[in-house]
Amino acid sequence: MENFREIERNNMTEKTNLSEEQKRILIDKGTERPFTGKFLKHNAKGIYTCAACGNQLFDSNTKYDSGSGWPSFYDVVNEGNVKLNRDSSLGMVRTEVVCAKCGGHLGHVFEDGPSNTTGLRYCINSLSLDFEKEA
Ligand SMILES: [Zn+2]
Repeated sequence: MENFREIERNNMTEKTNLSEEQKRILIDKGTERPFTGKFLKHNAKGIYTCAACGNQLFDSNTKYDSGSGWPSFYDVVNEGNVKLNRDSSLGMVRTEVVCAKCGGHLGHVFEDGPSNTTGLRYCINSLSLDFEKEA
């Protein structure tokens, strides 16, 4: 497992200009501190993409303020663009959200989103995201 991580880390390092902090989240599945992310209070119109590979992930129209301290979305741009994995680390069973293209860790999805939408809350690290402003 450690070797696998190392290989993945090296591949991603070659391909991108990720910061150490971003690698800690995207590759080592870390979590940024709540209320610190640059996209938390970000309200521009556009598409949030994977910071590692540019894959389109979330539309700003589905972003909402969940009060959790992390950028929250109730839907993905395209269901095939993310993959969901069962994550039983830290003594909890959660559903991990990863980028379907590069495997980068994005965050988790919970079922306590706005009930008038999908009912889902994609709780995503700002450090895993980039943003393409609507033209
Ligand atoms: Zn990616």
